[in-house]
Amino acid sequence: MTTKLGNFVNGATVAGTGDTLEVTNPANQEVLATIPYATAAEIDAAVAAAGDAQREWREVPTPERARLMFKYQELLKANHDDIARILSLETGKTFDDAKGDVWRGIEVVEHACNVSSMLMGETVENVARRIDTYSVIQPLGVCAGITPFNFPAMIPLWMFPLAVACGNGFVLKPSEQDPMTPMRLAELFSEAGAPDGILQVIHGGKDQVDALLTHRDIKAVSFVGSVPVAKYIYQTAAQNLKRVQALAGAKNHMVIMPDANKDQAISSLVGASCGAAGQRCMAISACILVGEAREWVDDIAEAMAAVRPGVWDDEDAGYGPQITQAAKDRIVGFIERGDEEGARLVLDGRDCTVDGYPDGNWVGPTLFADVTPEMSIYREEIFGPVLVSSGVETLSDAIDLINQNPYGNGVSIFTSSGGAARTFQHEIEVGQVGINVPIPVPLPFFSFTGWKDSFFGDLHTYGKQAVRFYTETKTVTARWLDEMAPATANMTIRLQ
Ligand code: NAD
Repeated sequence: MTTKLGNFVNGATVAGTGDTLEVTNPANQEVLATIPYATAAEIDAAVAAAGDAQREWREVPTPERARLMFKYQELLKANHDDIARILSLETGKTFDDAKGDVWRGIEVVEHACNVSSMLMGETVENVARRIDTYSVIQPLGVCAGITPFNFPAMIPLWMFPLAVACGNGFVLKPSEQDPMTPMRLAELFSEAGAPDGILQVIHGGKDQVDALLTHRDIKAVSFVGSVPVAKYIYQTAAQNLKRVQALAGAKNHMVIMPDANKDQAISSLVGASCGAAGQRCMAISACILVGEAREWVDDIAEAMAAVRPGVWDDEDAGYGPQITQAAKDRIVGFIERGDEEGARLVLDGRDCTVDGYPDGNWVGPTLFADVTPEMSIYREEIFGPVLVSSGVETLSDAIDLINQNPYGNGVSIFTSSGGAARTFQHEIEVGQVGINVPIPVPLPFFSFTGWKDSFFGDLHTYGKQAVRFYTETKTVTARWLDEMAPATANMTIRLQ
């Protein structure tokens, strides 16, 4: 049966009046739900109601706001598997991947439980005689979040729990490709006790995003998605005088040194390149084999060939389908181009089928060797289970190659040399580094710190930086005379 989703406004699902879009299961094209595209009037009303709710919410003591987060965390845990099931159906992710998606979001809610400590300001007593200066941290107002398809639980949860815990209202525009999961997150937030209107979810695409980017009452915009859209969001939001953080695409490298533990490195590489069908912004999509490790291409191909895609409840499936037929066609186009550009196609995932699911958007694990930096398969984010590899002589060559790449989301090195790891960590121009760890996504008490074309903005998502992103600092200088106090000596210091 097809579910009719609405926008989530003032604590309830409201049927929209705009055009509708179908949400499909990428394993078989079954229509799971329809969503309405929010109209301009509906967006205006949602933002206005979020503003009304926020003016009361900002006065709620921070320990009470924290209690909402504790309750929300409890409800998310109790509904963990149900949310993961919805997520699997609309994204095609394996159940394990879907559970990981939900869990990584819950960790941010746990972090938001600590909001009172994170909102502590600074104080200096006696900046002049009987004058104190202190800072207080206050919410911005109403903030907006625009999220991608590939983590429909984790990425909305990167945003609204911290924003709301800081005292803001929030309007979320989730990906139109998998909106069922974010809608369930919003319902549970309301069930946990969130005031009506403090989190609004509106659906749509470019027009709805534009309405948020240009809306007078939206103070900050948090975006996660592809590079061209991230650049557009960053520029448009900034032109409209909003604070903005825009997390974008990536080409993440793994460097394998000849002294690495070979089995560990290859199995990490295969999981990091094919896991979640390669649809992770921190997926390893380029592998640099150093020195004698250049001989390991066939071992990598053999390990990748053993991974097979399948449907979400197939426990032996390594990963699921691509999100849409268009995404699959784009990946197949890249494989064709790589072949034409002269890279060596060692493993070809184009003719991939899964029994019983002839209409799924399947792409098998694919490996290219002898890839050069000019090739489009190296320059562009493919966002599928396609790994490109090159060989170099030295660690220094590997570092130079990676530093020339425009992206800077994640990188990893596999080695048994502490010296090589230390040099790599210091010299590499990428924001998140793994040492014998393939996907170095920091837990939420740190921030998610992509660099270069993988991030546009100043303050990163989650962690302490997100608290600064969602708040203003007010600095107060105060003098209170005490008529009752005895006169104090007016001692001065004589400076030499
Ligand atoms: P996308 O850029 O197509 O869409 C992201 C959001 O932007 C969606 O909500 C979509 O409706 C909206 N959008 C799309 N086109 C738009 C336009 N022209 N104007 C305004 N809004 C528009 O991205 P996607 O395909 O959903 O997600 C995959 C991308 O996201 C990959 O590039 C991936 O690397 C990136 N990503 C990055 C991170 C990170 O942390 N850096 C995390 C997850 C995903």
